[in-house]
Amino acid sequence: MLTWKNVIDFAVNGNPTPERRVEKSDAEWYAQLTPEQYRITREKGTERPHSGALCSVYDSGKYNCVCCGTPLFDSTIKFSSGTGWPSFTQPIKENAIKYERDTSYGMVRVEVMCNTCDAHLGHVFPDGPEPSGLRYCINSESMTLDKETA
Ligand SMILES: [Zn+2]
Repeated sequence: MLTWKNVIDFAVNGNPTPERRVEKSDAEWYAQLTPEQYRITREKGTERPHSGALCSVYDSGKYNCVCCGTPLFDSTIKFSSGTGWPSFTQPIKENAIKYERDTSYGMVRVEVMCNTCDAHLGHVFPDGPEPSGLRYCINSESMTLDKETA
């Protein structure tokens, strides 16, 4: 299980190696994504709180990167944070997510990205529920829910 110490370590000393890499030009991403998906994932945008389609969805399944389809999070680690963005306590796998120090807007935060294609997903904060204490605050537009069929 990842903790805040691991997150800081990745952001400062380097990220885990992904299983594969997907690299495309901006024009290719633009052609593939909706304008809102492009703005958030490729231009580090943020959706308005409580606006995202996946915000209050708790169906079983995997949350995949909207850009490259890599599984990022799992419905079992989603929780209701009340912030208005889908929130998770862990990535689906340790090497699914990439972390970078973000000093924009006069704040020091840790940005989270897809480790496969570098899509911007959101940020991670050290105020999540125990035992990990992590809160991954993720834009709905950066993911698709792959629902489990029972
Ligand atoms: Zn991706």
